[in-house]
Amino acid sequence: MSIEIVPVPAFQDNYLWVGINRPQGTAFVVDPGDCEPIDRFLRSNQLTLAAILITHHHPDHIGGVDALTKRFRCPVYGPKGDRFPQVTDALVEGDNINVLDCRFDIIETPGHTLDHICYYAHSESTGEKPVLFSGDTLFAGGCGRLFEGTPGQMLASLAKIAGLPPDTRLYCAHEYTLSNLRFAAAVEPANQPLQARIERCRRLRDQDIPTVPSTLAEETLTNPFMRTAERPVMLAAEGRLGRPPKSEEETFAVIRKWKDSF
Ligand SMILES: [Zn+2]
Repeated sequence: MSIEIVPVPAFQDNYLWVGINRPQGTAFVVDPGDCEPIDRFLRSNQLTLAAILITHHHPDHIGGVDALTKRFRCPVYGPKGDRFPQVTDALVEGDNINVLDCRFDIIETPGHTLDHICYYAHSESTGEKPVLFSGDTLFAGGCGRLFEGTPGQMLASLAKIAGLPPDTRLYCAHEYTLSNLRFAAAVEPANQPLQARIERCRRLRDQDIPTVPSTLAEETLTNPFMRTAERPVMLAAEGRLGRPPKSEEETFAVIRKWKDSF
């Protein structure tokens, strides 16, 4: 059974991803920070909400959960811990869940927050390319800010994602791509695939089309936070530090800090 995945825009730049099983008339939503746009979408498509998947506890990811569960009484999957009480099925690394005939493996990705998890669906269960709901961990062209975790934790989380198949479709929670890629170009001005990606994404945004999903292969070639072991990124970190970075972790930390004030 193949699912259809569509973005429901919310707030300034959030994507609330909805997975749809049309023949069954059912759907799941990832990180419903707002109830209203999801409710409207489900009604106009005559869909019943079968599950809510949460990546982490930030308000723009969970704000709509109470209102949606009141209407649909569906399970709420989310990270184990006590950060928010609405979770009915608490998940940890290595767990898997079945939603709309789709199997998701749970990957713990601390860094942006300590409780962050990602949902990975294999090609067998989606009927097509593998899918990752990456929340605020890995963005198209960038990665989440380190609100709670350390650079080492985030680097290890991104390394887990880097181990997934290159054709994995990456569904992140924000349309930050163009500003992320502008920063990426400051880190690696000579990266040709990156320049081509910027052009591609500009054209999409000019037509108000989402730049998400991207693929893991694209991120490996153009996202500086997935490239901290690559020489051009190490050299950029060296330029900021005034000496060679001592480790990949230090490279990551320097690039992440640079992005915070870019
Ligand atoms: Zn967040």
